Amino acid sequence: MNSWRPDFPILKRTVNGKPLIYFDNANTAQKPQVVIDAVDQFYCQHNANVARAVHLLSEEATAMYERARERIASWIGAAAPREIVLTSGTTMAINLVAHSFLRPRLREGDEILITAMEHHANIVPWQLLCAATGAKLVVAPIFDDGTLDIDALEDLISPRTKLVAVTHVSNVLGTINPIARIAQETRARGVPLLVDGSQALPHFKVDVQALGCDFYCFTGHKLFAPTGTGVLWARYETLDSMSPWIGGGEMIDAVSFERTIYAPPPRRFEAGTPNIAGFIGLGAAIEYLAAQDFQAIHTLEQALLAQLLEGLRGLGGVRFIGQSKERVSVVSFTLDGAHATDVAMLLDLAGIAVRSGQHCAHPLMQRFGIHATLRASLAFYNTPEEVAGFVAALAQCRAML
Ligand SMILES: *Cc1c(COP(=O)(O)O)cnc(C)c1O
Repeated sequence: MNSWRPDFPILKRTVNGKPLIYFDNANTAQKPQVVIDAVDQFYCQHNANVARAVHLLSEEATAMYERARERIASWIGAAAPREIVLTSGTTMAINLVAHSFLRPRLREGDEILITAMEHHANIVPWQLLCAATGAKLVVAPIFDDGTLDIDALEDLISPRTKLVAVTHVSNVLGTINPIARIAQETRARGVPLLVDGSQALPHFKVDVQALGCDFYCFTGHKLFAPTGTGVLWARYETLDSMSPWIGGGEMIDAVSFERTIYAPPPRRFEAGTPNIAGFIGLGAAIEYLAAQDFQAIHTLEQALLAQLLEGLRGLGGVRFIGQSKERVSVVSFTLDGAHATDVAMLLDLAGIAVRSGQHCAHPLMQRFGIHATLRASLAFYNTPEEVAGFVAALAQCRAML
């Protein structure tokens, strides 16, 4: 029996009369009871705005909110909680770096280097910046097996490169990129490195200082926490060198109509009332994860991955998109003669949730010459029985289509 499963109440429900098989974890992950309770308890007992009032509830809310920031900082190996900027998600974290860090440093003809396996969130903000400044987006290629061509990436770093932005783990291919090696190269060249960690943290522990990158972004809802929560980590000196992007309450020390003095980081980047309950939930998710055995999680997920790949191979007519040896339990594939969305709809009738489509990665689909894939993405609460059920259901779909 999977010992994590009982912690996630939604896994008990049925879908279309069948027990739910939730294989859409790369889209958003389910929440353990402790996270749901933390959010519930906040609203039932402590609800107030943070850092604004002297009354008791506000003090409690602020303490809980800041406790979440401390937990996040220690979980990812940040030097201090003040290096943690709370955002609404990875998308907002990357846009913040684009506007507050890169834009003032960018001139016409400068370059931003990304890879061919990025999520739209790590493409479009840079394109917007390029359109506004005359900078150029440069894309490092990937191999047919869905691994990054590191030599090509390193060759593409030029004196004009002002930022390298790479995903830690591909949300489509499952590929784990060698961030420490890339960071060595970017540091040697004095180019800042941003890492999109959205798909990494749900599967393994990350130490941002050991990785050697300059910015690390992730989103809470894929990490078993509420939606509308995200994190940008950077060294304090880096954050302190950045101007605010969004202005309003909370991000200032003093305002007059002549002049506004901005608050120090991270508050400088947190204008307005944040998702207080959501971050308290993220703190609870991290407290939950910190108590788990990640070696056991790794072993289980890799066993499920191997079982899934073998089962799919046995079906015949399956094309895998992404075959890296270094990968997480995310599998994208196409089935000969079947549209991904048709298959996903049939799977839903069998109680199975997977994603079909382009996974916010149109350029990656173009790279492989396909329109869409099915994607099964597994978490540590999934089981071998579910994998077997999924493969059997696919065989049935195949027979029906
Ligand atoms: C989900 C995801 C994002 C965007 O996260 P949001 O929560 O939608 O902001 C960015 N990059 C990757 C790799 C993702 O998987």
